[in-house]
Amino acid sequence: MSSHLPVIALVGRPNVGKSTLFNRFTGTRDALVADFAGLTRDRQYGFGKFEGRSFMVVDTGGLMPSSGDPLAGLAESQARIAIEEADCVLFLVDIRAGLNPSDREIAGYLRKLGKPVCLLANKAEGLPRSAVGEFYELGLDTPMPVSAVHGDGIQDLLRQILPAAPEAEDADPEEPPEDGSVYVAIVGRPNVGKSTLVNRLIGEERVLAADMPGTTRDSIKVPFHYQGQDFVLIDTAGVRRRGKVSETIEKFSIVKTLEAIERAHVVIAVVDAQGDIGEQDARLLGLIAHRGRGMVLAVNKWDGLDESERKRIKTDVDFKLPFLDYVPVHHISAKRGTGLARLFAEVQKVRASAFIEMPTPRLNQILEKAMARHAPPAIVGRRIKLRYVHQGGRNPPKIIIHGNQTERVPVAYKRFLSNEFRRAFKLTGVPLEVAFKTGD
Ligand code: GDP
Ligand code: GDP
Repeated sequence: MSSHLPVIALVGRPNVGKSTLFNRFTGTRDALVADFAGLTRDRQYGFGKFEGRSFMVVDTGGLMPSSGDPLAGLAESQARIAIEEADCVLFLVDIRAGLNPSDREIAGYLRKLGKPVCLLANKAEGLPRSAVGEFYELGLDTPMPVSAVHGDGIQDLLRQILPAAPEAEDADPEEPPEDGSVYVAIVGRPNVGKSTLVNRLIGEERVLAADMPGTTRDSIKVPFHYQGQDFVLIDTAGVRRRGKVSETIEKFSIVKTLEAIERAHVVIAVVDAQGDIGEQDARLLGLIAHRGRGMVLAVNKWDGLDESERKRIKTDVDFKLPFLDYVPVHHISAKRGTGLARLFAEVQKVRASAFIEMPTPRLNQILEKAMARHAPPAIVGRRIKLRYVHQGGRNPPKIIIHGNQTERVPVAYKRFLSNEFRRAFKLTGVPLEVAFKTGD
């Protein structure tokens, strides 16, 4: 029972077009979540979907120091971890700028890694195929001419590098769980208490039993039973490590974490009340929100804190993670087992929100009521008309509102509508995606 989400790593010196390609890969997904309250999007990690196949993209360039030697500081960085864990490395060069000494250096590093590398000669729009000639010298695969800006060659590329079909054994996290069990991922930076929590829930032996040989990239599903409910832990090596057999501490891998997020129905994001709430926590939570996964925030190590410390942490959570207004917060102690029952009752509620059925008549009633309270604003004298609404997806729940001039609906009005729907359906722990369509 193992599987993983294809991971594509983009590598190349600055200015070859990595972020342009990243945007192209993740664009459609991103458009859907663009309306989430004030979230800045992560420029390094993204999810893409092509012909029904999901994948993950990592722009390693953004993770490397931007000055000087492109490989400097790579040693233990997330960029290196991502390159090593990637199923496919896309190495971009700039066909217009020609071969560059940094390209040679990167090529040397990639050759040593011994994993599949696609050499992309970017900015090739309007150029003859023969223009890729000089890049053969890098000693990698045949250079493929592409254009990240115009999209030339990109579909062929994705068809070539993504596995033929989604793995049949995988439950689709956007469909309600067939057997009623809830897929849960427990994520957080190192030392926040993830393994302690997992051991509490499942017991050490079960975790170890699940730690069968497999590649480190695979995530493993560990079924467990808690308070009369069936759950499946989407476990990554980052959590399950630490057996008596080997005490090796795994590298913290954002790629593995994101993979677990992708597979989960509900994510438990763990932060450490006895440490600082930091940028890494905020970033991880931002990624979960962007992916639209149901989420509960567990503030762990709540034991042994006095009243003033507890206050400080609550303020920290509010100020450092400000976009989390829809996410329920639970204070727990994984070590003592306190707060876990309530945490898991909440996970159930979030799951219900993630897969909620929103009947069309009810949706339209809510829309009409909302518009009666606040009419859509007039834009240059013409009123925006919103005609009808229906559900467009689950986990996260999505609604599509049809009308005219919908591209001109102001952000504030979108937010107003979104809140009306959220409140009416009592959504908790999940974002609501609201898309607008002009015409029918
Ligand atoms: P990065 O530093 O590798 O992430 O590169 P960017 O994606 O920021 O691109 C650097 C510059 O190259 C930008 O001005 C892009 O608009 C441009 N660029 C990227 N892809 C293409 C392409 O396919 N064709 C052309 N002509 N320009 C491109
Ligand atoms: P992980 O890296 O996120 O899996 O974190 P671990 O589960 O390995 O925990 C890191 C450290 O925090 C260990 O020393 C744990 O004993 C400790 N720890 C975990 N949960 C709690 C808790 O609820 N309270 C306290 N005081 N310590 C905890």
